[in-house]
Amino acid sequence: MQLNQDNQETLYRAIANVLIEHSDELTDLDQAIGDGDHGINMKRGFEAVLAELNDICALPPDQALKKMGMTLVMKVGGASGPLYGTLFMDLAKACADHESLSFDELGGALVQACEGVKKRGKSDVGAKTMLDVLVPVAQAMADGADVKTIDALAQSSANATVPMQASRGRASFLKERSVGHMDPGARSSQLIINQICHFFGDESESA
Ligand code: ADP
Ligand code: MG
Repeated sequence: MQLNQDNQETLYRAIANVLIEHSDELTDLDQAIGDGDHGINMKRGFEAVLAELNDICALPPDQALKKMGMTLVMKVGGASGPLYGTLFMDLAKACADHESLSFDELGGALVQACEGVKKRGKSDVGAKTMLDVLVPVAQAMADGADVKTIDALAQSSANATVPMQASRGRASFLKERSVGHMDPGARSSQLIINQICHFFGDESESA
């Protein structure tokens, strides 16, 4: 199973839909430790992606990912717009010249894209952010872990942000009061990984 220009629409639509569907939940999480807009931000950004999906999917995967990243940067305010924008645009760079990508190749590209997010956010693993899901998941994907393992790892990594104290983003202003809540960006990243797992899992079963 490979992600390519012909099948990528299924994945991007699924990611957009799941984030839009979970907008209220993401906003509730952000209400607890932020300013209550993460769901709104993701909904705005991924509705714009859906509106452009035909144009996006007429492009090869690297250019499609780049276009999605640019849309997110333009449409989403807050920290998450530039950070998810960077994630998709750096994924695009890492995928340049790949006509198709396997699950572990996508993981390798994600490892590189995480480096861009770290730089952009001056952040790293352990700060209670999206990176606490994306970094371990990307590395395990690149190392060849299977879809089921990655799906479970994304879930456990998001759960592991609950007891953390935030040291980046708005939640860090709360200091020890940020403990006891899941990071909203960790949850949105886990939702994205879950859809990637569905995409590669479903298709590989029928292949
Ligand atoms: P804002 O914080 O500007 O209101 P959002 O609410 O949309 O933006 O996004 C918040 C999420 O962004 C956090 O839950 C966290 O996962 C992520 N985030 C915030 N700052 C950083 C950072 N410096 N590095 C990585 N991720 C970050
Ligand atoms: Mg917010």
